[in-house]
Amino acid sequence: MSAAATTTPNSLLLNRHKPTRILSPRPFTVRCTAATQTAAATPPTASSTRLFNFAAGPATLPEPVLLKAQSELYDYQGSGMSVMEMSHRGKHFLSIIQKAESDLRALLDIPDSYSVLFLQGGATSQFSSVPLNLCGSSEDTADYVVTGSWSDKAFKEAQRFCSPKVIWSGKADKYVKIPNFDDLEQNPDATYLHICANETIHGVEFKDYPVPKNKGGILVADMSSNFCSKPVDVSKFGIIYAGAQKNVGPSGVTMVIIRKDLIGNAQGITPIMLDYKIHHENKSLYNTPPCYGIYMCGLVFEHLLELGGLAGVEKMNKKKADLLYRAIDESKGFYRCPVEKSVRSLMNVPFTLEKSELEGDFIKEAEKEGMVQLKGHRSVGGMRASIYNAMPYAGVEKLVGFMKDFQARHG
Ligand code: PMP
Repeated sequence: MSAAATTTPNSLLLNRHKPTRILSPRPFTVRCTAATQTAAATPPTASSTRLFNFAAGPATLPEPVLLKAQSELYDYQGSGMSVMEMSHRGKHFLSIIQKAESDLRALLDIPDSYSVLFLQGGATSQFSSVPLNLCGSSEDTADYVVTGSWSDKAFKEAQRFCSPKVIWSGKADKYVKIPNFDDLEQNPDATYLHICANETIHGVEFKDYPVPKNKGGILVADMSSNFCSKPVDVSKFGIIYAGAQKNVGPSGVTMVIIRKDLIGNAQGITPIMLDYKIHHENKSLYNTPPCYGIYMCGLVFEHLLELGGLAGVEKMNKKKADLLYRAIDESKGFYRCPVEKSVRSLMNVPFTLEKSELEGDFIKEAEKEGMVQLKGHRSVGGMRASIYNAMPYAGVEKLVGFMKDFQARHG
């Protein structure tokens, strides 16, 4: 048997660590040819192999952002290393996180009286952080408007840390509505009013926001699935939180925008990683942050600013959503969207087929045409097209064309 054939991972390790002869130090140069060739041979270009990805999150990202990240992946701006490899306390990463914050501030016109935090743990962690930081004790109460699965989850988690109350629920109607704000019986003693600005699974979206009538006038919103999809008046909110993986980056980064006067009152039992004060005082660098994810979010923010900001982004999102909803509404019932028209989401479009037995074929055939992830959430079935900022208009046009063709064949 040859030596190569008997080589085991351990023997390789031993060989690697064989003592080498120490030479006297002298200047030398090392040329890493493989690396130079790879970088030169594959200039980043848009690829025709990319699919139209209608996933609810992690979701499609803007192509220019992916290409820029690709071009900087190996050696970030001459730093000699990837963003994934650099210290989160070094000058390169500090400038990345500071620019990400200032670009996000510019995009959403965030007042100085608000802190911007880049955290981990997903929006799900915020379901606990919010009551832990805002309620002094488990007896404090908070109002929850339950418009779908996500606000329901937020409410259920809050029950562990305070005494929340559902002041409106759309469950009996299968979550297809947003309440009339005048009908909300808010508790004046509540610590905050919580909403989910866009229900990713059910496709209902607040088009305006209720005025909180609690003692501190605090409105908290989970904006995970419509964050940065349109302009928002941040000053109306005590806290806005959002996972990045729909509109602004990869999963792993959770953004929190919080009015500074609400920081510093966490319950004694609050784990350190859920305490806003810790993250605010340490500028999101208390522990090792999700560096690469923050870098990617920064690229998306820069890209959105280059597009002209969120007013233009909203216009484009409306145009895409109009095209898709029109196709559903004009299908004479072949396709159906259960959501009340005035609160239909610009981001997540759920729909069913009148002949539900054809839904499997619809999804399979769409996939063959390069349109993927159209299956509805397992809890509701049917289909769902998530058309976040980065879904091109051409993607929605292609979907609508396919829908018409499918109907012509099966209608
Ligand atoms: N809120 C909303 C509106 C969501 O869409 C999601 C995830 N899809 C969550 C919260 C939970 O986010 P995460 O998985 O990042 O914890």
